[in-house]
Amino acid sequence: MASLGCVTTPSEPHTQSPLATAQAQLAAAVRHLGYDDGLHANLATPRREVHVSVPLRMDSGEIRLFHGFRVQHNVSRGPGKGGLRYHPSVDIDEVRALAMWMTWKCAVVDLPFGGAKGGVAIDPREHSASELERVTRRYTSEIMPMIGPDTDIMAPDMGTDEQTMAWVMDTYSVNQGHTIPAIVTGKPIAVGGSLGRSTATSAGVVHVTESALRTAGEPLDGRTIAVQGFGKVGSHAAQIFARAGARVVAVSDVDGAVRADDGLDVGRLTEHVAATGTVVGFDNADALTNDELLALDVDVLVPAATQGVIDEVTAHDVRARFVVEGANGPTTTEGDEVLAKNGVTVVPDVLANAGGVVVSYFEWVQANQTYWWTEREIAERLEHRMVAAYSAVADLARREGLSLRDAALAIGVKRVAEAHKTRGLYP
Ligand code: GLU
Repeated sequence: MASLGCVTTPSEPHTQSPLATAQAQLAAAVRHLGYDDGLHANLATPRREVHVSVPLRMDSGEIRLFHGFRVQHNVSRGPGKGGLRYHPSVDIDEVRALAMWMTWKCAVVDLPFGGAKGGVAIDPREHSASELERVTRRYTSEIMPMIGPDTDIMAPDMGTDEQTMAWVMDTYSVNQGHTIPAIVTGKPIAVGGSLGRSTATSAGVVHVTESALRTAGEPLDGRTIAVQGFGKVGSHAAQIFARAGARVVAVSDVDGAVRADDGLDVGRLTEHVAATGTVVGFDNADALTNDELLALDVDVLVPAATQGVIDEVTAHDVRARFVVEGANGPTTTEGDEVLAKNGVTVVPDVLANAGGVVVSYFEWVQANQTYWWTEREIAERLEHRMVAAYSAVADLARREGLSLRDAALAIGVKRVAEAHKTRGLYP
């Protein structure tokens, strides 16, 4: 018996959509770079996109239908690259925005990739591992004509993990008749994943935070940090910040937030989350809400949960001096304006969370040459790329009086536009 599955029901409480935010950021960069309308339209529009039905046989035998998407925003600099998201809010516009951010992100850190993104409108917490495996395999086979190790390479994003990537790789490989590890990144080490990939986004967040503080003449040691989101990015960032001597005073997840002004014991908190599934209820800490966390008087606020959380309302409450965007699109255009007016330095997502795709690139290179690097080689190369990208963005911002976001977008958009113009238009 068939029933209607999870359809696209946007759950964001905030007004500006991710696509509107991404388009406004691009429009500002295009104005700054003086590009004409034709080039703007080219940069604003996905090169290729697909919407697929993903029927799922539930463990109960019931059939449900889900909607899946894959968008290749731009491939001028190389194959499309970007994550696969499982979340009930996924729709074509959200995927378009995320794919566009991947294009600029890859260009800002100078990777030979374009930008892509995929998603299925499903809540992974409501499904067993075997249901998720079937969804992943069916989604992969539906988008198979569009992906490939030289055309479009997936990675984990919200709601997916290295196991998801192993299923994608297996489905693709079985259909091609041989093993193709370079079809995905962020896969388990056992099937050709890279050392350092699982913590790479978080390590990159810490590198750019250190760079931003250094510019202001401050060490990371002793700074106070609040992290919104205790998932793949936030939990590792909190651990790396704490190990580097910073004081992580608050963290949150979807269920709530905890705070300890002397600094949370992040190791013990991680054990608490492994045991209970949430940061809530951690002892020796006070409870607070996600919105209260955003308003804490800390040196650095790391939004590492989802898009649109710092908007024209919540931005007024932000008292951090630095906002380092671990998530994609956590700040709306209006939120950005409020933060700028209040003198808050924002290290934008396309730079701050690029560590993940940087090590994805390393993973892809290693898979293509079938030769694997040491953890130390990866850590050093990641730090080098993140610090170099930060200083290029900060230099441009200083020289031209731009925010870090506008400078990062200007660099990323210009690199993509130059590749596009140099290649010329076919036919
Ligand atoms: N999903 C991550 C991001 O948004 C990683 C993408 C990738 O490694 O391809 O940056």
